[in-house]
Amino acid sequence: MLAVMTPVLCLVAWATVDAAEQPREAEPLEVIATIPVLKDLAEHVGGSRVRVVSLLSGLENEHSYSPKPSDLVAVRKARVLLEVGLGLEVWVASLVRNSGNSRLVVITTSKGIALLRDHEPPKGAGELQADGRFTLQGDHQEGNPHIWLDPENAKIMTRHITEAFIAADAAHASAYRDNQAAYLRQLDQLQAELAERLSRVPDRRIIVHHPAWPYFARRFKFQIAGEIVRQAGAEPSARHLQELITAIRKDHIRVVVSEPQLNQKIPEVLAQETGARVVMLTALPGGIAGTETYLDMLRYNVTRLAEALEAAKTH
Ligand SMILES: [Zn+2]
Repeated sequence: MLAVMTPVLCLVAWATVDAAEQPREAEPLEVIATIPVLKDLAEHVGGSRVRVVSLLSGLENEHSYSPKPSDLVAVRKARVLLEVGLGLEVWVASLVRNSGNSRLVVITTSKGIALLRDHEPPKGAGELQADGRFTLQGDHQEGNPHIWLDPENAKIMTRHITEAFIAADAAHASAYRDNQAAYLRQLDQLQAELAERLSRVPDRRIIVHHPAWPYFARRFKFQIAGEIVRQAGAEPSARHLQELITAIRKDHIRVVVSEPQLNQKIPEVLAQETGARVVMLTALPGGIAGTETYLDMLRYNVTRLAEALEAAKTH
């Protein structure tokens, strides 16, 4: 008897739900994030109301990414695209244009963030390559784009995302606001935890790989004593390497930061030449196992760096 009844009951229940709900209402908001940190922030704000695709997985170089055909397909059906801006994603404008998606809203999450500049831009700061890609030479023109590595900036980015979701889906505004509030509290808790962890680290000087770390360093009071390259993916000159080696020896700098998205040989060479220690950090969530969320990535980067600086001190 039961075996016969159950399918009928299920069908009736399903039909009732279907009639009561607007079919479009049930569809999550389709969102594209250029880099994984934006995906993570968007998922915290949007919860089950959004479906977020990140174009970069975390293993690629964020400056020189080449979009795949599947990226174009994803952008075509999205309602919202989240970018950092500031010239970080030089490859995204043509992707949006080529998608022909007129309902797509592009949200630049760096708006309103106070920027740090690296150095004065060199002459002829950009170059159009033979393959049509535009590459920045050395400097970030508008200010350093790696804003998300300071959690206070991540809060501003999160607020932009919340506003974008409310604009696209006002019916769930209160859920988006509640989710945002809960996430901002988590960010505060983690900052307090990391500040406490760092209170025992006296020497905070580091050599970094590419200029991804100024906001991170300012927030957590690390001192960037040198950079291996001024542009991700570039190779340092022999002269620059020699200058770094000299500075590391003279000033007794003990830690060199490497990044999984870049050539790891050069940090290794510096370490061999000077006895400094290499620590691998990632500017993108997912770049190293255990850094899949923004919060995990921040904790990982700060903790690993603190450990490396402490271990170096005892030698
Ligand atoms: Zn970068």
